[in-house]
Amino acid sequence: MRRRLILLCLLGFTMCVLCGCQWMIDRDLLPGDGTTTFPDSDATTMSDEADKTENHVPAYTDVNELRTDYQLGSCQDLSGNVAVILFFMDDFESSWTLEEADKYIVEEVKPGLEFLEQQAGVHGVELNLTVAQTYVSMYYNDEVITSMALTGMVTIDTVKQAAYQLGYSYSDEALLADQMQEFQADEIVYLTVFHKNGTAYAINPKREAEFDVVEHCVLFAWDLYSDGNDPGGAQASVVAHEILHLYGAEDFYTPYSRKTLASFVYPDDIMLRTAYDIRENQLGDATAFYIGWSDEVPDVILKPWW
Ligand SMILES: [Zn+2]
Repeated sequence: MRRRLILLCLLGFTMCVLCGCQWMIDRDLLPGDGTTTFPDSDATTMSDEADKTENHVPAYTDVNELRTDYQLGSCQDLSGNVAVILFFMDDFESSWTLEEADKYIVEEVKPGLEFLEQQAGVHGVELNLTVAQTYVSMYYNDEVITSMALTGMVTIDTVKQAAYQLGYSYSDEALLADQMQEFQADEIVYLTVFHKNGTAYAINPKREAEFDVVEHCVLFAWDLYSDGNDPGGAQASVVAHEILHLYGAEDFYTPYSRKTLASFVYPDDIMLRTAYDIRENQLGDATAFYIGWSDEVPDVILKPWW
């Protein structure tokens, strides 16, 4: 179990307690400051209390100091030809049929990818996201963590276990290298999906964190507290939201001061809320900046309470 799980304090990752039925997230649902924006960075002055209490613009010499989750792992730039690899994971208590997996791809994954492509176009970025490979009947040989909020832990080895089943020992990096070549892709996005309720999270590094897995998302067919009767497409915005985390996007629903600001400036931003109908979501210039679609620093992220 030690190999598969890691405590929040040891590894940077992003948890999302997002649900389309909520307008925005109640901060009380979130575990302390676990998802705050600049937990590990020493490259910015934005987290200094002095900067928050004195109303001045944080100093920076490079815009990357303001996007501390950007380009830290295997996912570097959300542009060009990006191959999406899907692993539909069974476990001791849940499994996928081919039909269920197909339905999830059509109703949840593809609308999420189309949203990202369309938003890339809005921001002048060329992006082609293709479901390059789908694996079903993958088996996750442990108990997947379905809620970091409840356990304080996340599962980090779903792609490693998939790699093992595909003959790569436990080397997800070898799998990544082969698939980069096979699909002639600029980037690879790994999505592992469980046929159960859970709170999606993105396994992505933070600065100064020990990290030896390729970036990927752990997704669930339904939100943690869903009754399973969500309309088709209800998870599409979650899929898009989690992929954005892999590329450096930050949550806007926490901390509370940021949520308040974001609610005024980016009320429909997909990093603030994930709508049941993804067409209600947008991707504003702050998220575009965080993922490198733009190098222009939006004024709002320089606000002391951002
Ligand atoms: Zn999130």
